[in-house]
Amino acid sequence: MKAAICYEFGKPLVIEEVTLDPPGKGDVKIRMAATAICHSDIHAIKGEHGNLPLPAIPGHEIAGYVEEVGEDVTYVKPGDPVIASIIPEGCGHCYYCRIGSPSLCQTNRLYLFGEGRFTNKKGQRISQYAGAVAGFAEYATIPEVNLVKVPEDLPVDRACLIACGVISGFGAVMNRAKVTANSSIAVIGCGGVGLNAIQGAAFVGAYPIIAVDVRDSKLEIARVFGATHTVNAKEESDPIKKVQELTYGRGADFVIVAVAGIEILRQGFLMSAPDGTTCVIGHGHGEQLSAWTPTDFMRGRKLTGSAMGAVRLRIDVPRLIELYKIGRLKLDELVSGHYPFEQINEAIESSEKGEVIRNVLMF
Ligand SMILES: [Zn+2]
Ligand SMILES: [Zn+2]
Repeated sequence: MKAAICYEFGKPLVIEEVTLDPPGKGDVKIRMAATAICHSDIHAIKGEHGNLPLPAIPGHEIAGYVEEVGEDVTYVKPGDPVIASIIPEGCGHCYYCRIGSPSLCQTNRLYLFGEGRFTNKKGQRISQYAGAVAGFAEYATIPEVNLVKVPEDLPVDRACLIACGVISGFGAVMNRAKVTANSSIAVIGCGGVGLNAIQGAAFVGAYPIIAVDVRDSKLEIARVFGATHTVNAKEESDPIKKVQELTYGRGADFVIVAVAGIEILRQGFLMSAPDGTTCVIGHGHGEQLSAWTPTDFMRGRKLTGSAMGAVRLRIDVPRLIELYKIGRLKLDELVSGHYPFEQINEAIESSEKGEVIRNVLMF
């Protein structure tokens, strides 16, 4: 079997033969069908996640089929179509699971750097960016708790998008920021995650829904996903003031920051209204907060963060699929291009340019 490996940050991935550990207790071997390229993968490959141990296999927006199950696996059987997400299903027993926040489970944790289940021809072990999941490979051994079953008739190139981009954006709106009907919202960054925050905001009935980006092409797509107003942060002399103008002078009740960068986060926070909530999704490049003062918070502004949309994996994903089926969740519009797995570096290069939403690798 083949995998695409990052041996050196900033260099093209190397596709080569690897061996995969067989599924252990609670593990499932997945035959990959489709993996989308998320910007987090690109950050990892460029070394912007700092301490990712190399060599590593990235990839975490996965759809595939169960090939083989390990001991004690009860949720899936060979042949089942699944998606795999880095956020696991909660254990159901810990404090956070019991209070209804399984995304914070103390037992089944979300982790970014996994030990890896692969060995290359030289006998070198290969780590995994995206922890439990390794999507840039023909097969992967993934814990059962990271899987959600999906319907047979859901196309794999749509299904894979739900594993990260959709849940991260839609979930941040629904589960973490808890955006309410008739409240105003600004979404900064209209890539695969931001567009899903916008369609989540439209779904809950927020108004106005202000899309903020530096590319007009992205802002145009944002309107398709439900944005009612757009702000080009590059062309607008004062984007914060512009958002205030569009929100009756108050600022947005909710701000979702779906792009990396500490200055952008700061700008997003200052777009929020008194008593407003800013939710960080973009994880940034490890920069520290510096220009913030306590007075920024005095009028009740709140700053929170969301990993993978604080999703309840096996509750929210089937619901999202239902919404797709009845035409209330856009997935088709998120797919910009399909690439055979062998052309992964071309797919990444095209994603990096920023004009595409999601390129999907087909196996
Ligand atoms: Zn992602
Ligand atoms: Zn738990």
